[in-house]
Amino acid sequence: MKAALLRKPYDLRVEEVPRPQAAPGHVVVNVKATAICGTDVGIYTGKIAVPRLPVIQGHESTGEIVEVGRGVTDYRVGDRVVLNSLIFCRHCAYCYTGKVNLCPSGGLMGREVDGTFAEYVSVPDYSCIKIPDTISYEDGTSLIALATVFRSHEKIRITPGETVAVIGQGAAGLLQTRLSVISGAEPVFAITRSQWKLDIAKTYGATIINAGAVDPVAAVREATGGIGVDLAIESVGSSATLRQAMDMVRPGGTVLLFGIAPAAMDNFNGYAMYYKEIKLIGSKGMVPKDFHTGIKVVAGGKMDLHHLITHRFALSQVKDALDLVDKRPGDALRVVVNV
Ligand SMILES: [Zn+2]
Ligand SMILES: [Zn+2]
Repeated sequence: MKAALLRKPYDLRVEEVPRPQAAPGHVVVNVKATAICGTDVGIYTGKIAVPRLPVIQGHESTGEIVEVGRGVTDYRVGDRVVLNSLIFCRHCAYCYTGKVNLCPSGGLMGREVDGTFAEYVSVPDYSCIKIPDTISYEDGTSLIALATVFRSHEKIRITPGETVAVIGQGAAGLLQTRLSVISGAEPVFAITRSQWKLDIAKTYGATIINAGAVDPVAAVREATGGIGVDLAIESVGSSATLRQAMDMVRPGGTVLLFGIAPAAMDNFNGYAMYYKEIKLIGSKGMVPKDFHTGIKVVAGGKMDLHHLITHRFALSQVKDALDLVDKRPGDALRVVVNV
């Protein structure tokens, strides 16, 4: 089969490798689509360490089951699935209590184990979540990003009428915006410098603020009677936008640090946290339940993933796809590699 192997940073080639077989408890999935996320770019550029090279990259993926191993009872050949890309041990205290995203022995497809920039991938059966026919393989790749958004909302628990600001309107930021709207927040301020992303946020029900035209902190304060929002969701991963989030949240409010970047954030101001008693929340990955909730909401028509895919590439062009997200991240929402 064909697969994209990373041999060293930036050295990614599509090569012929043996097709995996279904070990006991595993299934082989014919990969249909894989979206690129920031983690893939971090691995590709060497900013995120990989325990072994070469590795087949790729992890935000959908496909069709083509082979089931011994002992697999819940899945059949022909099932359409989205893959939970997190690896977890299922035996530790975290896994036993459902917090598999925090498993100390955990890992990620396309980093600790081979991933999905390939025609086939072998995965444990519990990594598969079935998707209905109404969700396309391409759109289904966004269910992974959506699952991480659902995970974070489990912690912030929006109640109707709360005010929310979402800084950054990439794919994850837009999903944060939409989930805040359907959770009953009012208003939800969508903030970015890209007008075309704000146009999408508007269709999601947000009040838009163009950070290239106005100071977003002043705009949010003014729109909230000088107080600030109950919840600010930072979905960029920069020190400047984290500072904005802390400045636009009300005293006693919550900042969700959702945008992740491997680089350290400079100028973190602990005094602002102290002075306003800000709650700063982190959220990592997702647990299987988050996929099921996300699929239910998308299938029910409340969350349209269609707007999110801006670029499509073939497996043979995967390097071009990674270069696009690496060099011009603001130009794209979801970049999908179709296998
Ligand atoms: Zn990812
Ligand atoms: Zn574990």
